Amino acid sequence: MTTVGMHLLRRETPLGGESFGGYLTRMAQKNGYDSAVWLLSAGGIRCKHGVSTNISFCDSAAGLVGLASLLGLDVSELLTLSYPRPTSKDARTDYTFFGHRVQQYVLRPDRPKVCPACLGEAAHSRRIWECSLVTTCPRHGRLLIDHCPGCSRRISWLRGKVCVCGCGYDWREAAPAMPLPDKELALTKYVHQLCGVKTAGEEANWQPPSNPLFTLSLRGLVSAVTFIASQSRGISCSTGRYITSTARNDSLHETFSRAYRVFEDWPVRYHEFLGQHQACAGKGGKLRSGGHPSLGASFGRIYSGLYTTLEAPEFDFMRAGFASYVFTQWTGQTTTPRSPVEHSLPHPGKYITGTETRHLLEVSGYHLAYLIETGQLRVVTPRKKRSRSLNLIEVNDLVSRP
Ligand SMILES: [Zn+2]
Ligand SMILES: [Zn+2]
Repeated sequence: MTTVGMHLLRRETPLGGESFGGYLTRMAQKNGYDSAVWLLSAGGIRCKHGVSTNISFCDSAAGLVGLASLLGLDVSELLTLSYPRPTSKDARTDYTFFGHRVQQYVLRPDRPKVCPACLGEAAHSRRIWECSLVTTCPRHGRLLIDHCPGCSRRISWLRGKVCVCGCGYDWREAAPAMPLPDKELALTKYVHQLCGVKTAGEEANWQPPSNPLFTLSLRGLVSAVTFIASQSRGISCSTGRYITSTARNDSLHETFSRAYRVFEDWPVRYHEFLGQHQACAGKGGKLRSGGHPSLGASFGRIYSGLYTTLEAPEFDFMRAGFASYVFTQWTGQTTTPRSPVEHSLPHPGKYITGTETRHLLEVSGYHLAYLIETGQLRVVTPRKKRSRSLNLIEVNDLVSRP
């Protein structure tokens, strides 16, 4: 369909905080179209599965000229609705959300959610709902819904009215969900605060609870929460992107709330989590490093993730909490038979590799060599030394370091 020079009869500008899909749906409703898909197609934008992802991540002015003309807007005005890519080169998979750099996988414009009470107050779709971490509405203290109570189907953009499902059910009339306790709203409130989205009068002065999560950037918050969530669910991808790709909002809410609790009473709950994780890694037989009780063997992906996925300085508190757990509570026990390497050790004890020691002490290889040379760290070399990585360092030495 070609629509050069064509304008919608009824036009309005986007509202503050309105989502791209929501704005197009509102314009479709105003002009009596079945859904926003018609607008996209008339604007020269190919659209396979509804409004969905493509349009929200479109940051090309040229690609939006036709749509902007149809809607009677400047392209720059329309671009404010999309999630642009950050300018830095190292952010290839990131997008900008309310001015914050954030992982693409946490932005889900293709999985619309709504708060029935918010729609009742103002009939437009909020952009903040498109973040997977936003599972609740802090203003009304309830879960957002992503499935229609009328037809039980997932809410989609294939609808002609902002507040009404394709099945005809008006979400504003949905029975209110159970109110949530404050701690289940905290994550969402923090995202709102970071994004500068006001929820209600009394929330303006909201102070985040004492929890190290609330010192993180939005991107850091997503990384930390999805990292813990993916460990809890035994998902191999430590970035947690698969958690957000298919789950329903209520199940995501449960997953994220559980991850949030790991950061409460810092570091008590985190240490409990590490204790459980250690037990699981042992049982699952995911032992590495020849079966000796190394950190890698005991903690598996959480250990490696702390130095890869979460390598940024803002996660130092997680590494420090991990180190304090290792030094005070780690048993170093494994459930596998003792390996040849372990048999060759002169006496039983807890040992970690040189690489692990460097990570824990945050020192370079040269510094580690210096510590060993000066006798500050004792090294145990198994009789059958197969590789340099089998230089094992006594954990006791690390504990007794000043
Ligand atoms: Zn609400
Ligand atoms: Zn429905």
